[in-house]
Amino acid sequence: MNNVSKSNTNGVTVQMTTTTHTSMQRRCRRNELFVNSLKMQSGCSLCQMKPMTEAECRLLDLNHDGGGRVGQWAEKSAGKTADVARLVWSGASLQRIADEIAKGDFLCKNCHCMEHTDPPIRLIETEAYAKKEIENFLGKIVTE
Ligand SMILES: [Zn+2]
Repeated sequence: MNNVSKSNTNGVTVQMTTTTHTSMQRRCRRNELFVNSLKMQSGCSLCQMKPMTEAECRLLDLNHDGGGRVGQWAEKSAGKTADVARLVWSGASLQRIADEIAKGDFLCKNCHCMEHTDPPIRLIETEAYAKKEIENFLGKIVTE
């Protein structure tokens, strides 16, 4: 393996190697780059946050409950949903990945969390108990 150090425009040294990847590794990298480029174009469908780097692409998830508005595949594809990351790293075809992405929307971690959080059922008695306990605890800290 021949290692080559290259400085990019920021002066950061990047390690690159001339060794050839296996065809599977190349397919996975192609898939990863494909999904990341879609994430950068699309951004979060709720707050419009757009990742600027591939690292930031990890902040976007595919929400299968979404309207299916990603990319030029405007309609939802029929069929069972699959985990996009699993498709990417199993070397699936670009078409298979595109079909899957078309079923949902990209959501950032914050929006995805809020989307799936149901408001808790609050029982009056439990609320009163919880508040009293906290009051007592904080009261103790103040008087100690
Ligand atoms: Zn968002």
